[in-house]
Amino acid sequence: MDRASQTDHTGHSTRRRFMAASAALVAAPALIGTPRSASAKAELQGSARPRFARFKLGTCEVTILHIGGSVVENIQSTFGVGAPAEEFRALAEANFLPADKSFSTLAPVVVNTGSEVILFDTGISASGLIPALDAAGLKADQIDLVVLTHLHPDHIGGLRSGDAPTFPNAKIMLGRVEYDYWAPLGNEQVKANVTPLIDKATFLKGNDAVAWGIIAVESFGHTPGHLAFLLESGGQKLMITGDAANHHVFSLARPDWVVRFDVDKAKAAQTRRSLFGRLADERIPFSGYHMPGAALGYVAREGDGFRYTPATYQFSLNG
Ligand SMILES: [Zn+2]
Repeated sequence: MDRASQTDHTGHSTRRRFMAASAALVAAPALIGTPRSASAKAELQGSARPRFARFKLGTCEVTILHIGGSVVENIQSTFGVGAPAEEFRALAEANFLPADKSFSTLAPVVVNTGSEVILFDTGISASGLIPALDAAGLKADQIDLVVLTHLHPDHIGGLRSGDAPTFPNAKIMLGRVEYDYWAPLGNEQVKANVTPLIDKATFLKGNDAVAWGIIAVESFGHTPGHLAFLLESGGQKLMITGDAANHHVFSLARPDWVVRFDVDKAKAAQTRRSLFGRLADERIPFSGYHMPGAALGYVAREGDGFRYTPATYQFSLNG
């Protein structure tokens, strides 16, 4: 049957209703073009996103900060170097994403164990990080320990405010392999932000404890000494995955796709398979530094890669 000529439950022809609606649409541009009524009760305030997410994990309290946000153009040249353009576009479309742009955010994690406040990664600058901490009710001098997943600028930039350390009371922990890779390269960011703190730093390798219930997990590739961190409290787990995967679709559904920022591209792909394979098999939730929204979710094995499912209310059930 021709859908346009069906009658609805009122007995009116839907075709007639359709035509009436079309007439209204023709008139619509005039309405859209009308200036906002003087009787509007509130100014437009601009789009907004939540500044942080906080939840309990066993006896710990976890706060995921949401910093910044910038549009990245031409994303295939970042997340799918050399992949067939048609496949890239189809994967984007299947996930309701544009194939040409992405929106990049940063998500440092604060873990309050009850006896220590630990910050994982520090953003691009102290001027970006401090307001984010502030919004979450945290002060720089309350941070006891800063842990670095790796030494890229968007993870170490917040360590110093001008000439002073941003976190006056904090110890620092970072990967031995990571520092040994960057230090001889004379990288300006590492020299300015990390080297001045190195005397009081503790170097980590895989399985080293950062605090009670938190261990380093080797996840080399994105950078040569990249570390993830597994937090376990009261029988619950959370993996802080840093930059092991930087796009929730392209890098998880296609873990082998080459990512421009990965220093060792083959190793990074191998790590995505092993790390996220473990998270899928053990059903461990994770927080990724550049993951969208709350930066908290799960992976399941699907096809030759992984399907990402953002967390919804799972952590609200923890009280
Ligand atoms: Zn990063």
